[in-house]
Parts: sequence; structure tokens; C-alpha cells
Amino acid sequence: MSLSQELIALEDRYGAHNYHPIPVVLESGEGVHVWDVDGKRYFDFLSAYSAVNQGHSHPKIIKALTEQAQKITLTSRAFYNSELGKFEKFVTKLFGYDKLLPMNSGAEAVETALKLCRKWGYLKKGIPQNEAIILFATGNFHGRTIAIISGSTEESSKNEFGPYLPNLKLVEYGNLAALQTVLSQNKNIAGFLIEPIQGEAGIVIPDDHYLKSCFQLCKESNVLFIADEIQTGIARTGKMLACDHLGIHPDMLILGKALSGGVLPVSAVLASDDIMLCIKPGEHGSTFGGNPLACAVATAALQVVLDEKLAENAALMGELFRKELSKVQSKWIKVIRGRGLLNALEINDTQDSKTAWNICMKMAENGLLAKPTHGNIIRFAPPLVINEAQIKEAVAIIETSLKSIV
Ligand SMILES: *Cc1c(COP(=O)(O)O)cnc(C)c1O
Repeated sequence: MSLSQELIALEDRYGAHNYHPIPVVLESGEGVHVWDVDGKRYFDFLSAYSAVNQGHSHPKIIKALTEQAQKITLTSRAFYNSELGKFEKFVTKLFGYDKLLPMNSGAEAVETALKLCRKWGYLKKGIPQNEAIILFATGNFHGRTIAIISGSTEESSKNEFGPYLPNLKLVEYGNLAALQTVLSQNKNIAGFLIEPIQGEAGIVIPDDHYLKSCFQLCKESNVLFIADEIQTGIARTGKMLACDHLGIHPDMLILGKALSGGVLPVSAVLASDDIMLCIKPGEHGSTFGGNPLACAVATAALQVVLDEKLAENAALMGELFRKELSKVQSKWIKVIRGRGLLNALEINDTQDSKTAWNICMKMAENGLLAKPTHGNIIRFAPPLVINEAQIKEAVAIIETSLKSIV
């Protein structure tokens, strides 16, 4: 057995089977590249689901990590720490909010936003106790907790995990009239949770008018517009936030993934005082949330995005990627779409076909890693530090791989 086969067998034997990975075993990374245990180099076109926007092991982020780790890593929120306030000030100023609530994983930040939204609904909107409703969009992905999957429309995420959380209501993503109807029929809606672009659903991009109008409708109905920018945020789509393309400022903003450059789980909810101060001491928390190591790392990670103008680079390289890919002649290309460096190639085959998987296997063989989402859609989301020559080299690999599948 080769070393990678051995390591795959170990995971298979001793780990839960809750993932179905592409069979490569990664050992190191730098910038847009990762290497497997045999020393083979790949372009990383998944970027850990957009967590490593800044590139693998960015030296400035790793420096912040090691320096802070040698001082102190965790104090708990029972005490103040030297890094948290500075981090909160930096991030709130950067995104234009009054306050930040730090958590760890993305799902935790979404849970936090749901709790905050309910509190606000009772304290500020005057919704009767235990009657607050939160709207979710069809096709959403917000994480894996019980509350979150209760609002999911994905069978595999939900089946046999019930009973579900009540008072979550689904509205069709992209359908403005549906939102209008729900809002007009119900006085107890506290918030609308939405991804400005649905990443996991296959890079589903609604038209600009839809999101702007959703935002406006929520405003008119005194319903919080809650943007989950865990995947679309931090420069991925060519602006700091996907909402920035539309000039909308969500009532609550949820960040995660690239907030730490993929170094540690760091997430956050941002909101105004009016919303954030609805939660009082003791009412919500997390042992690791706001730890000094996370704060130092996340500050460095955001600074890298600003210093290296990664939003601008994502916009330029994204356009180049779509332009180059659209020149490729292949019967498998159905649609190419995306914004910035969050792109999708929809494969010209049925959703339950193995074609997208086979293409991903071929690309891995040829030195580029990506993974199908929803069966026949391949997401292309490299680290935002990618340059023109690398984009062209990557597209050549994609082309060769597409052509080798008959
Ligand atoms: C990844 C993701 C989450 C969940 O984040 P975890 O860190 O995996 O819990 C939530 N929302 C969106 C849009 C995501 O892409």
C-alpha cells in the first residue's frame, strides 16, 4: 500500500464517515498550492470552501499566530484580554457596524444571529413570547446544527435528524413576490436569513434587483435582513462583501471562514447597538469565542486582504478566469457563472451523473483540486492571491481534463 492509501485507510477505519473526499492526502500548502504526501503539487481551487482566501499559510498570518501563541492563547471571557477590544474596533470600523460578537465556527455565528434576532424580535419589535419567526431561503446552506438544518431544504442534511426547530419559514430564493406575500401575512417575523450568493447550492446568483428589494421589503416590515457572508465575504466575490456590490448594509452580518485566513476557526456577528445590546451579560457565550489567539490571527488575516488588495485581485482574476474558461470547447460545459473568484461550471449531464466527479478526479490527476457540489456543478474558488499566469495554467489543466472525459 502507498503512503496515501495507508492514510486514507486510517481515516476510513477510525473516523466517522460524514464526508466523501477526493482521494488525495494533503500535507503542506503555500499560497495557491498544496502538496500531497508524495510531494505532488496541486492548485487548490476549493480554498477550504473559501476559508483560505489569503492563500495557504500566509507568512504574516502565521507570524501573528506564533507570536501570540507564545504570549497567551486563551483567557475565557471571564476576564478581559489584551487583543479582543482592538480586534472588535478594527472589524466594526472596517465593516461599518457598532458592535461585534465573536464566535468560532460559521454555524455558531449563524446560531448567534438567530438568537440575537429572536431577542430583538421580543424586546424591540414586540413579538409575543415564543412566537418569533425567522425566514430562510430555499437552497440555503448555513451550517450543520439542529437549528440551522431545521431551515434547510437539503434532504441529506435533514433526514433522520428531526424533530426540527419550529417557527422557521422557507421562502423561495430569488422570488421577490414570495417574500412580499409572507411578510404581508405575518406580523411575527423577526428576520430574514440569506446568502447574497448561494455557494453550496452551486454559486446561485440572484439578480441585483432581488436582493436590493428584499432588503427594502425587510426594512419596510421591520424585519432584520441577516446576511450570511461566511463564504461570499472577505473579498471572495471581488468586493469586501457580496452585499457591497449592491450597496446594501445588512442589519446583521455573519462572517467566518476567511476571517482567519483558514488558520483557526474564527467567526463573528456584526450589528448595531440597537440589536446587539439586546443580549445581556450571561445570556450567550463561548469558551473560545474572542480568544486572544483568534483575535490576533483574524486581525492579521483582514490586514492581508487590505494590504494586498485581494478584493481588486479577485475581481480581475475572476473575469480573466471566466473569459479563459469560456474559450474552452467541450461538450461538458453547460454554463459558466460567478462573481469574483467564486465561480461555477455547470456540467452538461444529469444531476445524479458521475461526470462532475470524474472530471474532478481527472483534474486532481492533472494537478488541480476542486469538488462537485450538487452533483453536476463544479465550484472553482482558488485563493485570492492567484495571478494571471496561474489562472492560465489552471484553465489549461481544466481544459485537458474536460477533454479526456469521453
Ligand atoms: C461554511 C458555511 C457555513 C458554516 O460554517 P462552518 O464553519 O462550517 O460551521 C455557514 N454559512 C455559509 C454560507 C457557509 O459557506
